[in-house]
Amino acid sequence: MRIKEFQSEFEVIAPSAIAWKNDNVGLLVGRENDEIQNIVVALDLTMDVAKESKQKNANVIITHHPLLFHPVKNITTDSRIGEILLYLIENRINLFAAHTNLDSVKWGVNFALANVLELKNVEILSPLNNSLSTISVFVPRNFIEKVADAMHSAGGGTFTKYDQCSYRGEGIGTFRAMNNANPFIGTIGKKETVEEIRLEMLVEDWKINTVVSAMVQVHPYEEVAYNITPLKNNNTEYGLGAIGTLPKTMKQESFLALLKKKLGATALRYSGRSKSIKRVAVCGGSGAELIRDAISHHADVMVTADLKYHTFQDFEEKILLVDAGHYETEHIVLPILAKKITQILRHTGHNGKVYLTKHSTNPVHIF
Ligand SMILES: [Zn+2]
Repeated sequence: MRIKEFQSEFEVIAPSAIAWKNDNVGLLVGRENDEIQNIVVALDLTMDVAKESKQKNANVIITHHPLLFHPVKNITTDSRIGEILLYLIENRINLFAAHTNLDSVKWGVNFALANVLELKNVEILSPLNNSLSTISVFVPRNFIEKVADAMHSAGGGTFTKYDQCSYRGEGIGTFRAMNNANPFIGTIGKKETVEEIRLEMLVEDWKINTVVSAMVQVHPYEEVAYNITPLKNNNTEYGLGAIGTLPKTMKQESFLALLKKKLGATALRYSGRSKSIKRVAVCGGSGAELIRDAISHHADVMVTADLKYHTFQDFEEKILLVDAGHYETEHIVLPILAKKITQILRHTGHNGKVYLTKHSTNPVHIF
């Protein structure tokens, strides 16, 4: 399996279109035509991870944090990034990143965090907005199934637990073919009326081009009439953070002890008053921007990382805030990511191994 085939399979389970607009995901270093041998998965790319990959004959490294994020002005051994990039290129190791797209899927970082805490009824805390549209197309009756099937196969009308969703309304279409036209129905210069069905389906924005081209390909008309309408609805399938409820109410101290144990954290920083915990919001990594969402969803606690002194202060009276560490709140996704990657390889008959790095890439130590 080549990297480009892997990329298109990965796109299906964690679309790059849902990543933060300034993020840097996908193939960061390498050649998309390289055949994949083995893969190493890590939260961050360090020189230890790069060397481990070479030892394991892994020519692909998949990390959560993109090594290339800020502009790089030179690639020399004077910087950590430069040294790693040189090593990758000299050893023909490819680097692929799944960052905020991995944060925003229901099998990603935040749902992993929710699962570790055994939360129930887990939902996205801050759903993706401005990412849905409807496509409406006018189809002669005999072609309705053909057109609908083509659109569904290209990803149209799939949402949450349902696929092949569409709406069909009957009506009359009119047209007059002019001199150089080649009409499927009717004659040049004569006004025609045709029984048509208005076929409408929901499409995620990043699939619009694929769905439209599949539709146009099987539609019988020379000029296909269709509308694309952007929606204001939230896309509840994708987004940042997660929220759910504990199987039973816990005292704050017991909850903190559970969290520490499940995440393998050495220490937790927290603020807020001692109270009972039932509803839990989580956001792996830097999630301070979601604290207000957690409060508006009536969370008793928000578990995240990288919280500042004044952030703790600002919300002290409103919610229990817990900073469990950036690495600690994210590393739990790695086995799940490795499993998904293995499924992609096996699905195409590839026998390559997917290794979780043996190195902790956490740069922060607690004394
Ligand atoms: Zn992170």
